[in-house]
Amino acid sequence: MAGIYIHIPFCEKRCFYCDFYSTTDKTLTDSYIDAVVKELSLRIGEISGEDVTTIYIGGGTPSQLSIHQLNCLVSGLKSIINFNTIAEFTIEVNPDDVYFEYMKECRSLGINRVSMGIQSFVDSELVEINRRHNASQAREAVSVIRQAGFRNISIDLIYGLPLQTQETWLYSLEEAIKLDVPHISCYNLSYEEGTVLYKRKEKGEIVECSEDDCVKMYETLVAKMIEAGYVHYEISNFAKPGQYSRHNSSYWNLTPYIGLGASAHSFDGTVRRYNPMSIKEYIKGVNSKGFAYAEESETIWERYNEYVMINLRTMWGIKTEQIRLMFGKELYTHFKSEYRRFVDSGEMRIVDGAITITEKGIMLSDYIIRNLMYIP
Ligand code: SF4
Repeated sequence: MAGIYIHIPFCEKRCFYCDFYSTTDKTLTDSYIDAVVKELSLRIGEISGEDVTTIYIGGGTPSQLSIHQLNCLVSGLKSIINFNTIAEFTIEVNPDDVYFEYMKECRSLGINRVSMGIQSFVDSELVEINRRHNASQAREAVSVIRQAGFRNISIDLIYGLPLQTQETWLYSLEEAIKLDVPHISCYNLSYEEGTVLYKRKEKGEIVECSEDDCVKMYETLVAKMIEAGYVHYEISNFAKPGQYSRHNSSYWNLTPYIGLGASAHSFDGTVRRYNPMSIKEYIKGVNSKGFAYAEESETIWERYNEYVMINLRTMWGIKTEQIRLMFGKELYTHFKSEYRRFVDSGEMRIVDGAITITEKGIMLSDYIIRNLMYIP
């Protein structure tokens, strides 16, 4: 089993909170797509012997690619990997890029899942973070995506936004639930250094949502989602039963994946590779030497820390025996000695040999996870 991630680093305009690598200059899009296909053809050996089961085209804004460009990209992928084993093929779209012919084309290319950033159903909140769409465009986009034949749709929301109140957050949640999509991701806004929002906060132009308010929003989120029949399968992710994101789940299991494009990461089971955060440097690297990445081998405890951090965020948690098998006796002993007090305090529980964070512990999850990690 293996995954492919493709980063499309082009956006029509930049959202004020975003620190993902992307640019509004699209002049190099065609050469970029050529480089992505070439990169895959030259690096496919990193996952040789593994069936590719998931593909995720993320960004940036993949829906900024024209139909022709998307066709070139996907036919390039098809010439290198066997599509018969693909169970989930996702594309991220922005609501105001969505139109019927585009989504129909996505469908005919084999894409079977759409992930769309809506962020809020309150127009003034969307303006404040410089999103391109408004709430009614988002609702319309979901309907168009459905008309084009997609059933597997995921939407994103953000809580803790400037101007947002408990009431407007509840409204956005209820609007999202009304759409009845199988998957909803909700993230707490974080003010990343270098973003417009961070600078405006530093200047005192906007007031950050208090920690207490964010906690209350999260509690409302969990309660509303569960009431609406969603499974809270990861700290920020909710899905109708069985409709979990396979691509994300494979990151949690340390499944190998190749990340293509500028700023993409890859993991082959032991080595992590990092592509540069520069389109020009990326294209130049792929065209001159066949790759653009820098490599980093991980120590066993770094791999352990990542495994613990990622899996304790999920409802499946960690099979304690798995820690011994994957990371050896020393880390297993550390893990066991650290989780006991959280089990005693009711913040973690063990069911069928798997340890998970309870609803009581979820607000302390960062603290719990930090304690279970290993610092030599
Ligand atoms: S949030 Fe998405 S659309 Fe907005 S700037 Fe970041 S990558 Fe682009």
